[in-house]
Amino acid sequence: MAQPILNVDNLEVAFSFPDGEYKALQGISFSVEPNEVVGIVGESGCGKSLTSLSVMGILPRNAHITKGDIQLNGEELIGLSEKKWQTLRGQKISMIFQEPMTSLNPLLTIGRQISEVLKKHTRLSKEERKNRTIEIMKEVGLPRAEELYSSYPHQLSGGMRQRVVIAIALVGEADLIIADEPTTALDVTIQAQILELFGEIKRKRNASMLFISHDWGVIRQICDRVLVMYAGYIIEQGPVSEIVNNPKHPYTKGLILSIPDHRKRGEKLHTIAGRVPTLKERKGGCPFADRCAYAMEICRSEYPKSHEVSEQKVSCHLYTQGVGVV
Ligand code: SF4
Repeated sequence: MAQPILNVDNLEVAFSFPDGEYKALQGISFSVEPNEVVGIVGESGCGKSLTSLSVMGILPRNAHITKGDIQLNGEELIGLSEKKWQTLRGQKISMIFQEPMTSLNPLLTIGRQISEVLKKHTRLSKEERKNRTIEIMKEVGLPRAEELYSSYPHQLSGGMRQRVVIAIALVGEADLIIADEPTTALDVTIQAQILELFGEIKRKRNASMLFISHDWGVIRQICDRVLVMYAGYIIEQGPVSEIVNNPKHPYTKGLILSIPDHRKRGEKLHTIAGRVPTLKERKGGCPFADRCAYAMEICRSEYPKSHEVSEQKVSCHLYTQGVGVV
């Protein structure tokens, strides 16, 4: 089997506060294989973005990795110098954030911002860089690319700005693209167009991507496999179709039942009672125990091991006990 593009093994991240250290990610293990799009799904505060920021080496100031490995094409990323990180970002890993203006410099033209990546990571001449930039602008569906080359971000709509960010992510031919809720800040019609563009990138470029979303519709459309996160753990992972049609973890089951379904119009939408515990509220045991209809005594004291059930990996004591979800 080919070496994974990304391999994360037993990653643990903690936040330091004046009153102590709190674990925000625990036992995070997953891989992204060549040409594979892996989704990360879960409610806010589950650790989706923190996982991707760990892979990009841009954790918040008071957060740090306390354990584990992150390997990109077999190269360990934990412990790299900031100088090495700067070469890796853009060239080997690139990131697309939710709000395009976070990534764009309002003072520089679109063309300059895309071609800067080429200047940093290639030996192309000025003219070659301009031609390549216009090519990639066309590839991501930016109209009148030659004209737009000299425009500034504020002259573009939100959807076009996100296309520019995608062009910046693609132009360096990075091995791994991380997209963090890339359509959430856009209106519904534009969202559909940007998702269509991601679909094309996946098909035409065989890109390897880590795709974060809270939206199962998006995950189903774009991803091959999905990691379901809850309170800093991956509680279930597997092929998207398996997880959607046959969720094994009670939390995943609740999430899937909460997806609006036009066939059930008029019926009350399922919700999972309670909320994700904050960092400081997390105790030992299964973090979902307070919201879980299946919780047993052992769930309050021991975090469940990961079990392989058909094509999924699931961390739940129901499988330790050989019961499963009914
Ligand atoms: Fe529910 Fe226990 Fe499974 Fe957690 S480990 S999801 S509390 S049954």
